[in-house]
Amino acid sequence: MNDMRDLYQEIILDHYKKPRNFHPITDASKKADGHNPLCGDRVTVYLKVDNDRVADVAFQGSGCAIFTASASMMTESLKGKTKDEIRTLFEAFHNLVTGKENEGGSSDRLGKLAAFSGVREFPVRVKCASLPWHTLRAALEGQPIQSGDVISTE
Ligand code: ZN
Repeated sequence: MNDMRDLYQEIILDHYKKPRNFHPITDASKKADGHNPLCGDRVTVYLKVDNDRVADVAFQGSGCAIFTASASMMTESLKGKTKDEIRTLFEAFHNLVTGKENEGGSSDRLGKLAAFSGVREFPVRVKCASLPWHTLRAALEGQPIQSGDVISTE
């Protein structure tokens, strides 16, 4: 268990120090901003969707290590996926970080994203880890952000 934890921590630190897909997409088809006021994390997610599949995804922003690593790993896991696949992944990730994960289920599907399983022990960090995903969903669905959500668009 401790080995697993070290490995997870290493993955998160690596993505924090060298965030992947950290740039704007000038011809993005979808874009959304997110803000986690509890921690000060801010993100803009850029999406290029082609035939219902994600052709490109990138982000910009600033925030804590958990937020940055989550955004970086999220962008890595999305390319080539359909809206439905992303919705499933979002649910699996959300369940993982909030501790609602079903027995033996979603970790396999999540791959490297399972590194965020430790986040559930730190309720304040759950919002940091899920901000990029909420913002992604906002970009994808083009829906107004619901009140009571962690994201504010000020
Ligand atoms: Zn944060």
